[in-house]
Amino acid sequence: MRFVDEFRDPDGARSVAEAIAATVTRPWTIMEICGGQTHAIVRYGIDHMLPDTISLLHGPGCPVCVTPAGIIDAACTLASQPEVILCSFGDMLRVPGHEQSLLTARTGGADVRMVYSPLDAVTLARENPTREIVFLAIGFETTAPTSAMAVLHAERDGLTNFSLLSSHVLVPPAMRQLLADPTNKVQGFLAAGHVCAVSGYRDYHAIPQRFGIPIVVTGFEPLDILQGILLCVRQLEENRADVENQYRRAVRHTGNRYAQAAVEQVFKVQGQAWRGIGWIEDSGLALRSRFALFDALNRFTEVHVSPERETACISGEVLRGVCKPDDCPMFGNLCTLEHPLGATMVSSEGACAAYYRYRRVSGAA
Ligand code: SF4
Repeated sequence: MRFVDEFRDPDGARSVAEAIAATVTRPWTIMEICGGQTHAIVRYGIDHMLPDTISLLHGPGCPVCVTPAGIIDAACTLASQPEVILCSFGDMLRVPGHEQSLLTARTGGADVRMVYSPLDAVTLARENPTREIVFLAIGFETTAPTSAMAVLHAERDGLTNFSLLSSHVLVPPAMRQLLADPTNKVQGFLAAGHVCAVSGYRDYHAIPQRFGIPIVVTGFEPLDILQGILLCVRQLEENRADVENQYRRAVRHTGNRYAQAAVEQVFKVQGQAWRGIGWIEDSGLALRSRFALFDALNRFTEVHVSPERETACISGEVLRGVCKPDDCPMFGNLCTLEHPLGATMVSSEGACAAYYRYRRVSGAA
């Protein structure tokens, strides 16, 4: 298939890996932001094709993993109201809050439904005028436009029984926070190609300027990732810090203006808590006051988002690249795909799930 098979070609991958090995003269640590890239790296053994001097760290770009437990708690409370149908993406239903997951809430009688798009939730609102449809809206710049479109469609259709429980997050503030941390080890980033397909990468230029590290916008197939690493390593070796675009077949500098306009119309930027990571300034999206009717926390004022509590799960450290999944003492024994203890094992994009699926080493049965 055009645009896929050629980016999985083993000979092509080997030759890029050889070019990386020929370029590297000293150790470098590079973080791939996106959980989809982490899965490709682990699944295809890309890190094993690299010289020992290149370390890959897995970043915080899994939307399910960074959704705070307090938001799950609020979703479960909303779902327990008899008039509410609570909808979200499939992975979100399994993620534990502080007390329970949406799936356990459903087992207890709550009306919780999986949808593939927020627009499906709008359809549900149209078809169920006597029920309150709440969509738990999560994800990065990639999913925010469809949430915005759902709100605009609901407004256009005069629906008064649709609302968002919004927990959208933005990538560049998280990159800045990671780099500003005194324990930071990241020397170069592979930025998430699909995020940049929406947002463009104009806003990324300020990061190399401030922190002096390269960013390469990178796709998701094995050759994409290897080429992204090669471009990043070349910059590091040449002491350059620019933004480069490996994923030209999908990403333009300015991104998708139509999607950006929808997000800009519906949401405003605000500070946001990330699961396991904590508060990040200007990293979240809240509904603008014009759309207050569609804000679930405005409609159900008795429901609140509780602050994060400490748990034994160290997924925050995994998401910040401080440690790898198999460094967690519970990996593969107490925490498995079948019985996940944290969001990074629940999510299909989570780093713990990737290691468990493709590279089980610690405590594994
Ligand atoms: S292995 Fe399980 S408990 Fe450990 S960090 Fe991953 S999700 Fe959390």
